[in-house]
Amino acid sequence: MLIVQKYGGTSVGSTERIKAIAERVARIRREGNDVVVVVSAMAGETDKLITFASEISPAPPEREMDLLLSSGERISAALTAIALNELGIKAKSFTGRQVGIVTDTAHTRAKIERITATQVKKAISEGYVPVIAGFQGTTETAEVTTLGRGGSDLTAVAVAAALGADLCEIYTDVEGVFTTDPGIVPEARKLEKISYEEMLELASLGAKVLQTRSVEFAMKYNVPLVGGKVKFYR
Ligand code: ADP
Ligand code: ASP
Ligand code: MG
Repeated sequence: MLIVQKYGGTSVGSTERIKAIAERVARIRREGNDVVVVVSAMAGETDKLITFASEISPAPPEREMDLLLSSGERISAALTAIALNELGIKAKSFTGRQVGIVTDTAHTRAKIERITATQVKKAISEGYVPVIAGFQGTTETAEVTTLGRGGSDLTAVAVAAALGADLCEIYTDVEGVFTTDPGIVPEARKLEKISYEEMLELASLGAKVLQTRSVEFAMKYNVPLVGGKVKFYR
């Protein structure tokens, strides 16, 4: 199987957690699967970078914000690849540019136009686990862009579609999509199935468990979400 696993900010929140992820990826890899990992920035990192910029300027240029924010995911990707190599698993980290994620020019909220994934496919065929920095791409002219808050979900769904993955697993701090935010409403029920329309509505009402854009993308390219190819784990 080809499995894309996306780890959110909490899941890569410390070096201990990154080592734990590496153990899990290593196990699945040793079972004979091809694994592609997509990571978010460590929890709080993106907000911290935004705060740094705001301490310097009330209106930092969006181009600079994108280069700044894309670095959070790069840190997680490189650390995760280091952790995997430490366990004897061949792994390589990739930036959005190296994945060939081409976006429009709308800095800080760019839309993905296409994904080539040439180097990622080559790495898989050579036995590497590609570890992709989420949330980023580049424009046609190599300007770094980010995909809007929560954008690593979009990277995961889009990469899974581009590679024709068998499964896309989303690791986050809740174990699925619930009727409402389980962090606020303890009686929230976990959904076994959800339509694109319902998921879009939840996302656009602020349920950040899946970024709205990632749901739109999934709908457009018919990537089955909850109850389908995209599964959630805690
Ligand atoms: P990650 O950093 O892994 O991307 P997020 O914080 O972006 O995680 O998304 C997970 C959070 O989404 C959960 O902690 C939960 O509080 C919140 N959430 C809001 N609405 C929902 C919902 N309907 N189902 C599941 N989680 C939800
Ligand atoms: N790190 C980015 C954010 O905090 C993207 C993501 O986590 O998906 O919005
Ligand atoms: Mg998120």
